[in-house]
Amino acid sequence: MRMRKLKWAAEFLENCPYLEHEPDQNKGNWKQLLNCEKLHVEIGSGKGDYWIEMSQMYPEEGWIGLEKQESVAALALRKAAHSLPNRRFIYKDAANIDEYFAPEEIDVIHLNFSDPWPKRRNRKRRLTNNRFLDKYYDLLSSDGCIIMKTDNKDLFAYSLIEMNNHKFVLEECDLDYRSNEHPEDAYTEYERKFSDKGQPIYRGVWRKKQ
Ligand code: SAH
Repeated sequence: MRMRKLKWAAEFLENCPYLEHEPDQNKGNWKQLLNCEKLHVEIGSGKGDYWIEMSQMYPEEGWIGLEKQESVAALALRKAAHSLPNRRFIYKDAANIDEYFAPEEIDVIHLNFSDPWPKRRNRKRRLTNNRFLDKYYDLLSSDGCIIMKTDNKDLFAYSLIEMNNHKFVLEECDLDYRSNEHPEDAYTEYERKFSDKGQPIYRGVWRKKQ
């Protein structure tokens, strides 16, 4: 998602009370802070639809949105409109995710419609590249999992292989996820757009190999 820089975004974020300005300060303490036993992190939350809706649907669980683009993060936080005790937002690059979370602290990592980076020379930027998987593996709890949804077949195929070559086991796999109703799982902004066009949504759940 590339978007025009919004003039108000930088100042808005600076003064936004719902943004975690120093997320490294909470490393290891997120569950206590959000008063939850299960911690979800959505990497690349975009404008926040999924993060907002899921945090409302599951108030007992903790929800953290992580987004690296200033304007997009500002739109997500403006949309969230108010703070909820079980959710927080981090405006940072996931490349440094291990600075914000302690080993085994996260229970579910959500990758929703991640940038596909189709050119081979950019594959290290894909959020399922093994450099990222190394970090996810350490940060996930022993029965933690990664849940990925995408419209992009090539990215999905790449992720299946990359996870398989890593220490993750595929537990669920769906090549047309929204052909069945899943009221328990919110639509993301991209998911709504692609589903409305009739495109299949691919979804995988991977657990850590013990
Ligand atoms: N999850 C949303 C947005 C998908 S677009 C949806 O499904 O509608 C992918 C988003 O991931 C973009 O907003 C992009 O800025 C963000 N992103 C990509 N790489 C990232 C990284 N390394 N760290 C944090 N966010 C990232």
